[in-house]
Formats: sequence, structure tokens, C-alpha cells
Amino acid sequence: MSDAVKQNTSADARIPDTTCPACGARNTNVRSLQFDSGRGLTPWARCTSCSTYFVTSSWDPAFETDHSRDMAWGNEEQGAALNLRKRDGFVSALDRIEKLGYGASRILDVGCSFGGILTEAKKRGFECAGTDIVPEAVEYVRMQGCRAQECASLTDCTLYDAENPADVITVLDAHIYWPDQPGELRAAWNLLRDDGLLVIRAVTKSAFVTAGRYVGAVAPSISRRLIRRAIADHRFSMPLKSLVKTVEQSGFEVLDATPRGAQHTNEMPLGARAAYRVGTMLWHSLGVSIAPTTLVFARKKAA
Ligand SMILES: [Zn+2]
Repeated sequence: MSDAVKQNTSADARIPDTTCPACGARNTNVRSLQFDSGRGLTPWARCTSCSTYFVTSSWDPAFETDHSRDMAWGNEEQGAALNLRKRDGFVSALDRIEKLGYGASRILDVGCSFGGILTEAKKRGFECAGTDIVPEAVEYVRMQGCRAQECASLTDCTLYDAENPADVITVLDAHIYWPDQPGELRAAWNLLRDDGLLVIRAVTKSAFVTAGRYVGAVAPSISRRLIRRAIADHRFSMPLKSLVKTVEQSGFEVLDATPRGAQHTNEMPLGARAAYRVGTMLWHSLGVSIAPTTLVFARKKAA
């Protein structure tokens, strides 16, 4: 039986009890799904509270570290090359951060990989710090003159605290690996000063997972491709509206959520450029999210 067919024949199986990593809601007796993703054929569910698709297998930091090392952003040679390829995206995020009044401030990048946005931020006079799960990445970032700490969770981060808080926290393409997003958002809130800025470059492809499921019965190979491309190796795929709500519930005021400037590079094929252009228009006119990534800017509300 093909993987795509399997994806659509697990309708009867149920998961008795599982917690959504994206919104923290407990799900009981939820339908069990199987998706062929960048992690192989894995068990998934869809949250009844926030409609996020998520992996139901347990999260293990040692496994995630090794998994990251196999990815372009988890090893030095490819990671450094990736920084250059994604430069336009870093520049556009920093432009917006400066425009919002947070220029040359203390910035903490979560899941900083081999420098990425920090390298660009340093040139602009920001005081830079980063966390990552991969120790080699942390060492590399330190060699670039930034403070860095190996952290599987922001709750372990000691680079900033309430006495000496960060002004800006960036999370670029990293939230989709978090096992407990509300917990990480609370930790970000604790590390930021009052009115501090949280920037999330969110992966917003859950509509493509849903589309893939719909076409599964008639076009299994298209279904498999759609789902695999939408999920890549992520641990969850969250609708943008649900993310905005979760960020707000975590003590932030969302200033803006937009696909504009959320692409990694300006050198995209025509199809991808169109996806961002149409995605930006649809999101801002109808609230429909189809752009592959979205920038979310949120300000910490004082307790
Ligand atoms: Zn949820």
C-alpha cells in the first residue's frame, strides 16, 4: 500500500490523549493521521482547538540535535552558505524592527543556527545574542563576537533575565520545532523588557496539508507531494489565525502579521513570488492565509 493511500485509510484509528504543541490544548480521542514527511512516515493528529496538524510522537532533545545536524542549518558548511542565501529575509526583518523603533537594541535570536540574522544585526549596531540546540552552531556564533547559549528550550536561557532583559526576540522558522509553544512564548515574555518586541517568521502552510488530504483519494501522489512539501521536517503546521491568537494569549499585542518581506530571498522562481504576492493580498483583504511564511510582530504587554 502506498504511503499516500495509508494517509487516507487511518480514519478509524484514534489517539486517546495527546497535547497540541502549538496551542497547548489537550486532545482526547482525536483521529490518528499518518503523513510521509521529512521525518519519514510519522504519526500526526489535528488539534480540535486550533486546527494545527502536529506530530504525536514524543520530543527528544538529543534526537532533535542530531536531526538538525543532518539539515542544512545544523552544520557549519551548509549553514554559513544558507546565511547568504537567506540574507534578503534577514535584511527585511531588521528593516521592520528598526522601523518599529527597536534599532541598535539588544536582540536575542532563538534557533540562531550559524549566525544568520545576528551577523546582519551586528553590522547595524545591535547587541547580539543567540540560542541554538546545536553546540557547534553556538560555538560558531560566539566566534563571530556574539553571546550564545546551547538551549533546547528558552526556559533554560540565561543570556537575559528580568534585571537585564532583551529588547527584541526573533524566532525565524524555528517555532515549528517547539514541543510546547505556549511555554516558549511565556519564556520569551519573561526575557523581554516591557514593550519589548517579539518577531516570529512563521511557517504558514497548513492549508496545503488540508488540501493534500482532500485530494488524497483521487490523486495520491499529488497528495503526498503537497503534504510533504508543506510539512518538510516540522513538528507542527499551524494556521496563521491560530498562531496570532496563541501569541496574544501569551501576553503580547500583535502589531502586524504579514507575508510581506517574509520570504527568505528575493531571488525566487515566478511561482513562489506569485504565492507571496497573492498571499499578501488575500491575507490583508480576506484573512485567508496561503503564503508559505508570514512575519508576526508582537509587543510585550506589561503584566
Ligand atoms: Zn492546538
